[in-house]
Amino acid sequence: MSFKDIIGQGKAVNMLQGILKRDRLAGAYLFCGESGIGKKATAINFVKAVNCLNTGKDPDNLLLGLLQSPDPQSPIPDFDACEVCDSCQKINAGTHPDVVMIAPEERIIKIEEIRAIEETLSFRPFEGKKKAVIVDDADSMNPPAANAFLKTLEEPPEDSLIILITSRPDRLPATIRSRCSRITFHTHSLTSCRDILKNKMNDNEAALALKLSLGRPGIALSSDIRGDRDWFVNLLRAMTQAEKDSWASREEMEKWFDLALMFTRDLAVYKISGKASHLINEDLAETLGKLGKSVDVQGIIDLYKELNFIKSMLLFNLNKSLTWNYTASLLRKELYS
Ligand SMILES: [Zn+2]
Repeated sequence: MSFKDIIGQGKAVNMLQGILKRDRLAGAYLFCGESGIGKKATAINFVKAVNCLNTGKDPDNLLLGLLQSPDPQSPIPDFDACEVCDSCQKINAGTHPDVVMIAPEERIIKIEEIRAIEETLSFRPFEGKKKAVIVDDADSMNPPAANAFLKTLEEPPEDSLIILITSRPDRLPATIRSRCSRITFHTHSLTSCRDILKNKMNDNEAALALKLSLGRPGIALSSDIRGDRDWFVNLLRAMTQAEKDSWASREEMEKWFDLALMFTRDLAVYKISGKASHLINEDLAETLGKLGKSVDVQGIIDLYKELNFIKSMLLFNLNKSLTWNYTASLLRKELYS
């Protein structure tokens, strides 16, 4: 896979290729945008394009490219990964000595991992043009890790390229954000989602996944998106029937509130339009119609705002049971009073 294979992120890809074309590579980038829209794939391909032995205009590299290309007649890609040179192949296999990927373990990136990055970056590249570090879910750095990382960003080693990936940039310290060039990724259009999901799931699955994924095809492919939605509805039912809290973790709480916001959006849309085809949860039109029966549009908007506020407060480790009971009373007040 190279830049040319990335679907639906043309703006970000053009920006990155422009940087390579103008030879204006910064030391650190922050790739921001929702989960499941291609930030990590783009980061890997950016690193590949930077280190590719066939890209660019260096005559030595061109010669090397011609020697390494399986088809000497095919054009050498400009500012993209060629996929055939040693560097591209090693990055694809995860064995390139100058490329390191970091991701949270149990949702946290600890200082030990940042120390490992510092050590990696302290050497000159073994065989690549740049030493590259990609930090996925960078907002998972705990405070000691973030502090240590800030020092690396303040004095970036020569020939290094750091890419931080996050769907929640506001959770990164401002001091880290301000030292990175920001590249923003956007959720996909229905057409580009359809193109990505094509041939990866059957038509029935894809139709619902397209709507539920809200322009995030990676989410549709990596999780049981329909199962998650049904789990949300079961918990909603349990909550309104005053059952005991059923969230297993904070991660589940966040997921539940994401789905609750989507569901509340549908309540409002159905109330206003009365058309099932306008709903994300089109298959639940009947349930949405019943739930929204005794509430007006303003009440649904108020409920949305309240749920969104609770979701934003989850960051502060809200008590699970209290949050459950509070949300239940809110739902009963807005939907059943
Ligand atoms: Zn290459």
